[in-house]
Amino acid sequence: MIDPQNRLESMLAKLREQKFRITPQRIAVLKILALSNGHPSVEQIFEQVKKDFPTTSLATVYKTVTLLKQLNEVLELGFPEGSNRYDGSRPYPHPHIICMECKKIVDPDLDSLDNLTQELIQDTGFKIVNHRLDFFGICPECLKNG
Ligand SMILES: [Zn+2]
Ligand SMILES: [Zn+2]
Repeated sequence: MIDPQNRLESMLAKLREQKFRITPQRIAVLKILALSNGHPSVEQIFEQVKKDFPTTSLATVYKTVTLLKQLNEVLELGFPEGSNRYDGSRPYPHPHIICMECKKIVDPDLDSLDNLTQELIQDTGFKIVNHRLDFFGICPECLKNG
């Protein structure tokens, strides 16, 4: 398991290193990303931060997320329809499973991923530098409510 507190500390350290100002609003954004519950969009992060900091602007959230992306402290997941989603909990390539009903995104722990990568290398001779592995389906909650 990834400790959200560790992720938060690591993000804060990177921002300090780059001499970026650490405001309470920024910390709030970082906290949400460190948890990455359901892999929020910028709009979803904004909605949450606004509860504690009503004066926060969407632009502030955007800027903070973009900054973290540049520092490789957050993983961006782009989708052809709908907003980009963000994972600050695991800022490196990893598989995702996406609920087509509620749009929740979950990180599965796949033991077979290493084997799959090895097989891919043997089969193609490629040096693998990145991957994007998305599964789409209906989550248990939506199945229950459907
Ligand atoms: Zn769902
Ligand atoms: Zn993820």
